[in-house]
Amino acid sequence: MPPLQPVPRFGGIEAGGTKFVCATGSHPGDLDLAEFPTHTPEATIPRVIGFFEARQPLAAIGIASFGPIELDPASPRFGYITNTPKLAWQDFDFVGAIKRALDLPVAFDTDVNAAALAEHRWGAAQHKEFFLYVTVGTGIGAGAILDGRPLRSKLHPEMGHIRVPHDLARDPFPGNCPYHGDCLEGLAAAPALQARFSISPDLLPPDHPAWDLEAQYLSLGVANWICTLAPQQIILGGGIMSRLELFPLLRSKVAALLNNYVATPKLVPPALGSRSGVLGAIALADAVAQPATIR
Ligand code: ZN
Repeated sequence: MPPLQPVPRFGGIEAGGTKFVCATGSHPGDLDLAEFPTHTPEATIPRVIGFFEARQPLAAIGIASFGPIELDPASPRFGYITNTPKLAWQDFDFVGAIKRALDLPVAFDTDVNAAALAEHRWGAAQHKEFFLYVTVGTGIGAGAILDGRPLRSKLHPEMGHIRVPHDLARDPFPGNCPYHGDCLEGLAAAPALQARFSISPDLLPPDHPAWDLEAQYLSLGVANWICTLAPQQIILGGGIMSRLELFPLLRSKVAALLNNYVATPKLVPPALGSRSGVLGAIALADAVAQPATIR
């Protein structure tokens, strides 16, 4: 009888606006994790590489990155972070830097698509054919997953930057998206709450009127996505959605907006909690690993 093959271990990088979460493993039960603050590439990437060098052999690395990013394999800038407002990371060759240092297959996708893949494989969207994963934190992003694959072409959608009605009488805050002012992200991501109320959203009490306004904006986004895409389920994660009191408010406002014209899909938190991003990176690595590289 041939010896049992060891289960391959993969590396996962969740690159966020405030921190990088790195992990090795192959599923939610065997992760070896570390976090590094997001400074400049020169400061942060060597720490990431050191983490994985100390944990070789690995079969592949998956990167789940904040964006915008270049996902077209035919582009000379495939694997780059492109025109992000985080200036130190503009035009950074993310995939190239990791591949050169670790000499492993590298998979690359958006942080939201990766989190969605993890929820499909291990979390709240198992056996769902078509669902959305939305993150509401330092930005707002959403990924649609159809039959286990992100729905996109050469570009990736930017569903957080849609326009929603903005009642200036109720909310005179002009919005703070550097590209659009009062798009959904400019009105409802964490920096907008911080700027509007001059307090960290973490410190806003549950009965503060901020949450009703927040649920109002998010419900407009969710209703538009439902009418456009008709998903079976919407998972909402990220730092703002960890305030679970938002869910009942959001569900009732979405139902009122849709007014029984179309069915309201389930709106649920991620089952994998704050680990969905890095687990998505592990799932990406699993998909790109070549059998010959598995040791
Ligand atoms: Zn915007």
